[in-house]
Amino acid sequence: MILVVLEHDGQRLRKSALEAIGRARQLEALGPLAGVVIGENTQAVAQEASQYLPTVYVAEVGGYTAEKWAEAAYAAVQKSGAQVVIASGGRQGRTWTARLAYRMKAGLLEDTLETRAEGNHIVATRYSFLNRVTERQRAALPVVLTAKPNTTPPAEPQGSGGVEVLNVALPTGVEVLERLSEQKKGVSLTEATIVVTGGRGLGSPEAFAKVEELASVLGAAVGATRAVVDAGWRPYSEQVGQTGKTVQPNAYIALAVSGAVQHQAGMNKSKYIVAVNKDAEAPIFKIADYGIVGDVHQVLPALIEAAKKLKD
Ligand SMILES: Cc1cc2nc3c(=O)[nH]c(=O)nc-3n(C[C@H](O)[C@H](O)[C@H](O)COP(=O)(O)OP(=O)(O)OC[C@H]3O[C@@H](n4cnc5c(N)ncnc54)[C@H](O)[C@@H]3O)c2cc1C
Repeated sequence: MILVVLEHDGQRLRKSALEAIGRARQLEALGPLAGVVIGENTQAVAQEASQYLPTVYVAEVGGYTAEKWAEAAYAAVQKSGAQVVIASGGRQGRTWTARLAYRMKAGLLEDTLETRAEGNHIVATRYSFLNRVTERQRAALPVVLTAKPNTTPPAEPQGSGGVEVLNVALPTGVEVLERLSEQKKGVSLTEATIVVTGGRGLGSPEAFAKVEELASVLGAAVGATRAVVDAGWRPYSEQVGQTGKTVQPNAYIALAVSGAVQHQAGMNKSKYIVAVNKDAEAPIFKIADYGIVGDVHQVLPALIEAAKKLKD
C-alpha cells in the first residue's frame, strides 16, 4: 500500500497534493494507493480527494503542528499497512516527515526529483551538497519520501473512492498558543500559471514596482533571482532556482535575468519562456521561446500596456 499525505488549504487540495498523487501513481507497482487528509473541517477536501484515490482517510486534529501531523500520518500507516508514504517536499512536509520515518523505522528520501520502484526498493534522484550535485539514492521499504514541488505533473481525477475517519490520539508535546502568518500578496509562486521574474538587471528594488504591475495585470506571481534576493531587494520566498523554488507555469517571463544554470534549474520546465535582456548573448535566450533584446526599462512598460489592452 502507498499512502499519500495530502496538502490542502482547508477547502481544496493544493497543487502539491495532486503532484504527490501523480508521484504515487508512478510507483503503483508497489501496491494500491490511499490518501490521508489531516487538519480541521477536512470533509470537503476528503470528498475532493476521493475523486483521485480509492481510499481516503480523514484525521481531524485541528491546526498544524509537526507532532500532530506525524501522529496522524502514523495512524493512517497503521490502518492501511502502507509501506510507502509520499508527502510534498514543501516547507511543511520537511518538518514532520522525519518524525514519521523514525516511528515507522523507515528510510527517508527527501526532496526527490524523480522516484521509481526497483523490486522492494525505491530509487530516487535529488539535489545534494547545497544543490551542487544531483545524486541517486536507494532505500529498501518501508520508505517515507517527499516530492520536490513542481517536479511531477499533477494527477487527474480517476473514479470515486471511499472516505474513512481515523481516530488519532493527539500528542501532548508542543501547543501552539498564537500564530501570526505573513500577509500573502497575490498568487502563490509554486502554483501560479504565469510567473514574472525580475533579475539584477532591473537595477534597483524600486524597479520591481513595474514587475508587480505586470504580474497583477496578468494574474501572475512575482519571482526573483538569487542575485536580487541576496541584494535584499526581494524576500527569499520569491527566489526561483536550484536553491530557491522550482516552478513550472504555462508562461515564465524573465526580465533582465541572465539565465544562469542555477536559475534555469528552477524554471526550465515552464511551458513557454519569454525573456527580455539587453544582451543578445545572455544564456536565457538559449531556452527562451520568445525573446526581446532591449532595455527592460523601455520594454516592461510596453509589456504592461499590451497586457492591459489584451485584458480589456
Ligand atoms: C550553489 C549556487 C546556487 C545558486 N542558486 C541560485 C538560485 O536558486 N536562483 C538563482 O537565480 N541563482 C542562483 N545562483 C546564482 C546564479 O549563478 C546567478 O548568479 C544568478 O542567477 C544571477 O542573477 P541575475 O540573472 O539576476 O543577475 P546577473 O547574472 O547579474 O544578470 C543580469 C542580467 O540583466 C541584464 N541587464 C542588465 N541591465 C539590463 C537592462 N537595462 N535591460 C535588460 N537587461 C539588462 C544583463 O545583460 C544580465 O544578463 C546560485 C549560484 C550558486 C553557486
